[in-house]
Amino acid sequence: MKFTFVTLFQNIIEGYFSDSILNKAIQKQILEVEYLNPRDFSSSKHNKVDDSAVGGGAGMVMNPQPLFDALDELRNVNSNVHIIFLTPVAKPFKQNDAKRLSKKSHIAFVSGRYEGIDERVIEKYADELFSIGDYILTGGELPSLVICDAVSRNIEGVLGNSDSLAIESFETSLLEAPSFSKPENYENISVPSEYLKGNHSNIRSLKLALSICKTKFFRPEQLLKHRTRKSYEK
Ligand code: SAM
Repeated sequence: MKFTFVTLFQNIIEGYFSDSILNKAIQKQILEVEYLNPRDFSSSKHNKVDDSAVGGGAGMVMNPQPLFDALDELRNVNSNVHIIFLTPVAKPFKQNDAKRLSKKSHIAFVSGRYEGIDERVIEKYADELFSIGDYILTGGELPSLVICDAVSRNIEGVLGNSDSLAIESFETSLLEAPSFSKPENYENISVPSEYLKGNHSNIRSLKLALSICKTKFFRPEQLLKHRTRKSYEK
């Protein structure tokens, strides 16, 4: 899978790929990362990429010309590239999106800055738009990385043990059961005794009960989805 980050601030993104799982995936050539800076495509004298808003309004808006040229070049090189714009007004990104997008071969993330991107760029080039939540960040770089990370873990070979994917929260409508590491007793706090008895069927039942409790506590609306699905399955 190839990821292209269209950003004015490559440095913010690069560091994330310098270590850990995604770095290993790059070394194994499962992932490839490239950057396009709209400033390099600006035809203005001082490589300007933004201007005041037409019709008035606070702040600067990213100009169409550098982005049109950058995205034309991207599409000329690979007409199949899936172009995603990050914007707080879009639908929220979900785990199902991560799984679906992991089947693509090339995804580009276009990060806005300032008050955002000239709408004509979005209308012409967006295959899809995502928000990562109902709050405003200074730029699209963090949202791009969030989505890139979530997508990458679903690509075969990226995770050391892909079995962990199947039981993670949001894979089903229940949240994952609590996890414990060694030692079994730490500062007089023990893991649930059933986890220690080696009866896998009992451990599974307990984990399911704990998953339901956790979902009821943290995300009750998810539990409702779980119940509705179960009643359909009957
Ligand atoms: N003026 C815009 C508005 O009110 O909708 C906000 C612009 S924000 C300061 C600048 C850029 O950050 C956006 O163009 C977008 O790329 C990114 N951004 C900010 N918050 C985001 C969010 N919650 N999800 C995705 N992208 C976001």
